Amino acid sequence: MFSRLRGDFPILDARVGESPLTYLDSGATSQKPECVIDTFTEFFTQRNAAVHRGAHSLAVMATDSFEAGRAAVAGLVGGEANQVVWTKNATEALNIVALGMDRASRGFGGQAAERFALGAGDSIVVTEMEHHANLVPWQQLAQATGAQLRWIPVTDAGELDLSRLDEIVDETTKVLAFTHVSNVLGTINPVDTLVARAREVGAFVVLDACQSVPHMPVDFVDLDVDFAAFSAHKALGPTGLGVLWGRAELLDALPPVLTGGSMITTVTMDSAEFMPAPQRFEAGTQPVAEVAAFATAIGYLQEVGLAEVFEHERELGCLLLDGIREIPGIRILGEAEDRIGTVAFEVEGVHAHDVGQYLDSQGVAVRVGHHCAQPLHRRFGVTASTRASTYLYNNADDVDRFLSALAEVRPFFG
Ligand code: PLP
Repeated sequence: MFSRLRGDFPILDARVGESPLTYLDSGATSQKPECVIDTFTEFFTQRNAAVHRGAHSLAVMATDSFEAGRAAVAGLVGGEANQVVWTKNATEALNIVALGMDRASRGFGGQAAERFALGAGDSIVVTEMEHHANLVPWQQLAQATGAQLRWIPVTDAGELDLSRLDEIVDETTKVLAFTHVSNVLGTINPVDTLVARAREVGAFVVLDACQSVPHMPVDFVDLDVDFAAFSAHKALGPTGLGVLWGRAELLDALPPVLTGGSMITTVTMDSAEFMPAPQRFEAGTQPVAEVAAFATAIGYLQEVGLAEVFEHERELGCLLLDGIREIPGIRILGEAEDRIGTVAFEVEGVHAHDVGQYLDSQGVAVRVGHHCAQPLHRRFGVTASTRASTYLYNNADDVDRFLSALAEVRPFFG
């Protein structure tokens, strides 16, 4: 099945100079199957209108597509459609939670929001492997409220060091925010253990699911998290669309950050009442075509099967790891057992940007730099790394082409 579906992705036929494109940068963004691209065209040719409040047929069709998209997401990650808030991306989704808590701490949102208020004496816990999108908003919240920011360290193997978990997450902890899967190391984190500890101390759990939802079966209800965030563009969907998933009663109580049109029930000259979730977080005209296209992407992923995607990528990940280990002068960052097909590494004596440029000259697309995880790179004593990341459309030939090009890097740079 996986060899057949590669033909669904037109861009994979592209050439880079003389070489065929070998796309191993899906951790940054995924390529799109033809059906997703077609949905865009079809939406704009047949269904385009602003959603809600429209009295005409096109507006009704657009609204139906928009709301059906929520149900599609709930079908993918669990819960009900009203637990799905559309955002610009995962970064915005995580900011909505952190900034909402900031507003609650300053008295916005009334009694319902008091449960989110933080102050001096409280703590927020993250991990040392967070993407900046799930670190900086919590730093900002800590600074704004006087709460203490703590983090769970990372071991040499690239796993969370849980030996001091009970000390780090304690009765002062109001929020435990962590990534399900590291975007650098590929490590899958033990959500169960972390959620269990958060529940013991009554902390909210915020899950960054950017690198898990596209690659493996994920159910936020089963995982028992309070909020979760991911981006459509990493899961075969379009850019400009993200998801904030939350427990319904929490979403209804969290103060919105963006206010204005489409999120209110009543407005007077000096006050406004907000709609319940999810609309209370969706101020302004919404990305309707993107939602329609993402619903198609979700259908595609479900037809392939997320368990199958995970297995396929795990096999490619093993080929990547084994192959890289055989090339002299390369250090892999973290070698966790439980992982997806993402591998970051350092090439001795060659800067990651030069590695990336050489690979590109051979048609191989990887990501170089700190991958928005500077503290994690510092932990491993490097400022930058090269990252190869797989997806369902990759195959063993991609891995071979990548490994052949990688083996030439050190000889090339002398
Ligand atoms: N969290 C993780 C783990 C990521 O990999 C990314 C994207 O690279 C993000 C958050 C941010 O996603 P976006 O840039 O789509 O908001």
